[in-house]
Amino acid sequence: MALKFYNTLSGKKEVFVPLTDKFAGIYSCGPTVYGFAHIGNLRAYLFADVLRRYLEFKGYTVRQAMNITDLDDKTIRASKEQGISLREYTDKYIRFFFEDIDLLRIKRADVYPRVTDHINEMADMVKLLLEKGYAYRKDGSVYFKVSEFPDYGKLAKIDISRIKPGATVEADEYEKEDVRDFALWKEKKEGEPFWVTEIGEGRPGWHIECSAMSIKYLGATIDIHTGGIDNIFPHHQNEIAQSEAATGQKFVRCWMHCQHLLVDNKKMSKSMGNIITLRDVINRGYTPETLRYLFVFSHYRSRLNFTWESIGHASNTLNRLNQFVERLKDYNSKSKSNEEITMLTSRHAQRFETEMDNDLNTPGALASIFDMVGEVNAAIEKEDLSAENAKAVYELMLKFNAVLGILTLKEKGVLSGNIEALIEEREKARERKNFKHADEIRKRLEDMGIVLEDTKEGVKWRKK
Ligand code: AMP
Ligand code: ZN
Repeated sequence: MALKFYNTLSGKKEVFVPLTDKFAGIYSCGPTVYGFAHIGNLRAYLFADVLRRYLEFKGYTVRQAMNITDLDDKTIRASKEQGISLREYTDKYIRFFFEDIDLLRIKRADVYPRVTDHINEMADMVKLLLEKGYAYRKDGSVYFKVSEFPDYGKLAKIDISRIKPGATVEADEYEKEDVRDFALWKEKKEGEPFWVTEIGEGRPGWHIECSAMSIKYLGATIDIHTGGIDNIFPHHQNEIAQSEAATGQKFVRCWMHCQHLLVDNKKMSKSMGNIITLRDVINRGYTPETLRYLFVFSHYRSRLNFTWESIGHASNTLNRLNQFVERLKDYNSKSKSNEEITMLTSRHAQRFETEMDNDLNTPGALASIFDMVGEVNAAIEKEDLSAENAKAVYELMLKFNAVLGILTLKEKGVLSGNIEALIEEREKARERKNFKHADEIRKRLEDMGIVLEDTKEGVKWRKK
């Protein structure tokens, strides 16, 4: 079966045909760095990570870019409130962002362009749009003229003639000619950072960053663009308009969007005040892998309602999977090779791929893994599994894990993933001079029977 992805633009699953054979260029909308990422944001990044890992599994070379939005109303306001520079303020949250994605074993993208490092690229693009007649100046700002772009609305499947004032309009944009138009460039404002460019003094609007940085790092046309569904409109719709108007070429071949993570059936978001961070999850004693497991257990296009109970279940199931893999690793037997298990292994290798080829059907892939685990366990019980059989199944599990990243492999007689994650978290807390948090983690480890020793070579741990 061919690899298929659901393309938001066509509203259908389509065979993935990259622009260049066996190469995939991916742009993923990244964090606005004005606070900790919540696990809803992390769901969107994890989905992009599984996509990337699976393309690599299929033999593709992937180049991925993810923007870091360090310039917007929120970062400006918060840095002002704290009396520090925008750079200093956002640097801190960029560090937290990387800590989170590393803990969650999300593979790093190839580039993480920061908005404030690419103002000139954005100004150049705005200039081109002005020259081509797709944009106009009003006072010191520049707006995109939506009526000049006939395809506007296609991604979001909206009829633009119905957009009413207030739907996408920011209060400070009343100067524009048409309510649907959006700001490409904002005039310099008292007390806000601004840049001196060929198109004037000011700062870019939000949407232009992704167009300018995607084109710079991945070319005019990219294979896949990812984000959460809230990005579809207006953000991604505006990205299409700006990019295609500027280059005259198709911007994105396949748009992929992840559904929301909910809490109490409401979207998890900072403004709702219902956020949970990865630190909260770790502090409750769950490994980052457990969160990964919870996420891949549902399809990226379905809504997922987060509860502590559901992560508790995920943890139990994942423990059983980890124990199974450990059992295979240490497996020793004089039994003869079981041909049925050999066939079972190749059947499940195939089924995993069939499920994943079907728009990254991770729940289906997990169901296949559990079926295989059940049959292999039964063979072990019947003492009908050879050492070679066990090795083949073990290696297959590792291959699946290269895509899903959910297993925690045993070390020194204890499942160590959680401990290592906590130690890492404590180290980071100490670097940030948050000694209170560092001590809390030491105490939690002690409760788990783990003693930490700070040595010259770093932190070591042993069982009490
Ligand atoms: P932000 O930092 O708000 O710009 O969001 C970063 C990414 O997280 C975007 O791709 C959003 O679409 C995505 N996102 C935000 N909230 C959620 C949520 N509750 N569930 C899934 N993805 C989300
Ligand atoms: Zn974006």
